[in-house]
Amino acid sequence: MYWNNNVETISRKDLETLQLTKLKKTLQAASVTPFYKKVFTENNINIDAIKTLEHIKDLPFTTKNDLRLSYPDGMVAVPKKMVVRMHASSGTTGKSTVIFYTAKDISDWADLVARCMVATGATQDDVFQNMMGYGLFTGGLGLHYGAEMLGCMVIPSSSGNTLRQIQLIQDFETTIIHITPSYCLHMVEAIRAEGIDPYELTLKKAYLGAEPYSEATRKKIEEQCGIDAYNSYGLSEMNGPGVAFECTYKNGMHIWEDYYIVEIINPETGEVLQPGEEGELVLTHINREAMPILRYRTRDLTRIIPEPCQCGRTHYRIDRIKGRTDDMLIVSGVNVFPSQIETVLMKFPEIGNNYQIILDRENNLDRMHIKVELYSKLFHGDIKEIDHIKSKLKEALKALITINPRIDLLEPGSLPPSEGKAKRVFDNRML
Ligand code: AMP
Ligand code: ZN
Repeated sequence: MYWNNNVETISRKDLETLQLTKLKKTLQAASVTPFYKKVFTENNINIDAIKTLEHIKDLPFTTKNDLRLSYPDGMVAVPKKMVVRMHASSGTTGKSTVIFYTAKDISDWADLVARCMVATGATQDDVFQNMMGYGLFTGGLGLHYGAEMLGCMVIPSSSGNTLRQIQLIQDFETTIIHITPSYCLHMVEAIRAEGIDPYELTLKKAYLGAEPYSEATRKKIEEQCGIDAYNSYGLSEMNGPGVAFECTYKNGMHIWEDYYIVEIINPETGEVLQPGEEGELVLTHINREAMPILRYRTRDLTRIIPEPCQCGRTHYRIDRIKGRTDDMLIVSGVNVFPSQIETVLMKFPEIGNNYQIILDRENNLDRMHIKVELYSKLFHGDIKEIDHIKSKLKEALKALITINPRIDLLEPGSLPPSEGKAKRVFDNRML
């Protein structure tokens, strides 16, 4: 049931003591890097004065821009010969940033991933097909070594080449897939288009992550494939995948607090919020040699779920990521997250799995245009039917986000499919 019983069910009190010891060690390590040496001097940080976890608030935040400015190795805390790997962020926004790992960092990361997988009920009997991109992106290699450590048979199929993916699932009786939600939605349609019933495949679980998606999308994937889908969260700056993962209760992601100190802040003021309050996730990695990063502003919006989980793990859970502070759209003065629109779309059975949100400015007014594919099985080409779906959709969107978008219902397969992180929003207002 647990990968590391002692750590996963540690008492909160012991966990905090462990965190403080690890934090102090991390601060010592960080203080030798050119970046943090300067930060500590400029902010008069005395590491010896940090006596409780509360004192973490005395440290300034680290941002993605800091990582860019210290490119390539201004945050590296070990001699170059100890570094065994680098990864780079996929550039969710802007230029990519580089992360380094020692051999211990790599094996600790694998151990953490094995812990996540066991939390979903995975065992060495599973066949794990890893459909996340292998390469600089952490999604592929990140889960790979953890799955091997657990003893699964790993199929490193990487992303794309959908027909071959389906063939591999059939030939090697894959039980777990690791995939972005957008690619998963595309994959299900491809499986059906091949005349295969997804329920007849051996698939049992999907690990979905790397991009925001709604609970409605999870449900849709589970129903369409007949599997359990688990939310997986990570970011390269904090290793990659494995930072937080759902257990079999599928009700928020356990964030591994022996590796990370978790804070939620008000993104505007930087004030630290109470457990349960929604804001920006800030993480301090307290278990890394090559690149200790302190109080990293993830830009991801979520909240801590402080209530204990029924699985017995004591590490806090975080809620599904609502969006990023920087992907929030302001349309005609209204704050809209793409995930809210997705939630509405995915609740309509007539709607397919692929969509785009396009924003334009006409005569100084914001216009939202949603292009969405219909689900082939439920669409019979009847104009009346299209009009009816459109008006139901408009109504539902208006009720949720108070915006009246133009909606185009498209034939299945007309939008470009996503094989990795999907690009859903096209904001042409600034062009
Ligand atoms: P990267 O470092 O390029 O892998 O990108 C990491 C970012 O992907 C995170 O900061 C999140 O914005 C996003 N992300 C990763 N996993 C999830 C998830 N399960 N739900 C929502 N967003 C996610
Ligand atoms: Zn749990």
